[in-house]
Amino acid sequence: MSRVWNFSAGPAAMPQEVLDRAQREMLEWNGSGSSVMEQSHRGKRFVEMAAQTEADLRTLMGISADYAVLFLQGGATQLFAQIPMNLAAEGDSADYIDTGHWSSKAISEASPYLHVNVAASAKADDYRRIPTRDNWQLDPGAAYVHYTPNETIHGVEFHEVPDVGTVPLVADMSSSILSEPLDVSRFGLIYAGAQKNIGPSGLVVMIIRRDLLERAGRPMAKIFRFAEQAANDSMLNTPNTWGWYLAGLTFQWLHALGGLSVMAERNRAKAELLYSTIDGSSGYYRNPIDVPARSRMNVPFTLHDSALDATFLKEAETAGLLALKGHKAVGGMRASLYNAVPLEAVQVLTAFMRDFAKQHG
Ligand code: PMP
Repeated sequence: MSRVWNFSAGPAAMPQEVLDRAQREMLEWNGSGSSVMEQSHRGKRFVEMAAQTEADLRTLMGISADYAVLFLQGGATQLFAQIPMNLAAEGDSADYIDTGHWSSKAISEASPYLHVNVAASAKADDYRRIPTRDNWQLDPGAAYVHYTPNETIHGVEFHEVPDVGTVPLVADMSSSILSEPLDVSRFGLIYAGAQKNIGPSGLVVMIIRRDLLERAGRPMAKIFRFAEQAANDSMLNTPNTWGWYLAGLTFQWLHALGGLSVMAERNRAKAELLYSTIDGSSGYYRNPIDVPARSRMNVPFTLHDSALDATFLKEAETAGLLALKGHKAVGGMRASLYNAVPLEAVQVLTAFMRDFAKQHG
């Protein structure tokens, strides 16, 4: 068996060590005589593992007791709707920053529940930059401010947490959570689909300041209500037990490597290598994003002649470099460099890119 270098945007590469351990524990987990998937989420072993996983995430991210940590289902997309349902009452409005595909989705999914004020948008610039904070038209009466720190498709990333005063800041961190240290106290709510930096799809991690759990929101079924999920330790119904377990293994892997500062350094080195290869290719490869807004996690790039795209992808695959095709919304290529992608993968990719340019120049 040989594993490839996987640059998928999500579901994405997982750490080899996590997969190895899951494989070892697949048939018999934790001395229980069965796999983790075959046991009750109310059982002692599972409940202890779930609590340890939360504790490990709290240590990794420095999450204080002022915040609840939830392990939910429904994907980040369901939270696009659940956030306005929970945080806003009838007639409220919220500010949204539009920086690409995913923030636009968040805006359209929130629209049935409240008035969306698009306080800033980079749409007119094809989402190639982050709108400067000075020009945001924030409403001091907004229920919250929503933004997407890293746009997975457009490859645009905020490199600072924006200051929005006392209005709660809500962040869709699906494609950047755990990639670097973060001051959680700057946020009202952080959410992330697991399938990039946490584990398999089907799990969402949410970190919410406890005072926001007291907001009445809209009338809704209990299953959608954050306060109910928090009061029931995210086990109002059967959770994604397998995803939760794998998230726990990923958090342990991150701890063993030295935590998020080590991860930030690794991620910086990977992104620097790829961007310098693109920028040093005399226009053979191009990344369209305004340099200060370039993403460390998702690097879209085009070839100087799109007629070579199919050949590039085919030869890359033969060289063991997978999932480099760009999203159809932007075309070209995209390399996602999440935590589980080692520097060696980017070294192999950039060597391949240089060779390809020479051969097809
Ligand atoms: N937000 C961002 C930033 C994403 O990258 C994605 C998925 N690629 C989503 C939201 C949607 O996530 P899900 O498929 O889990 O609903």
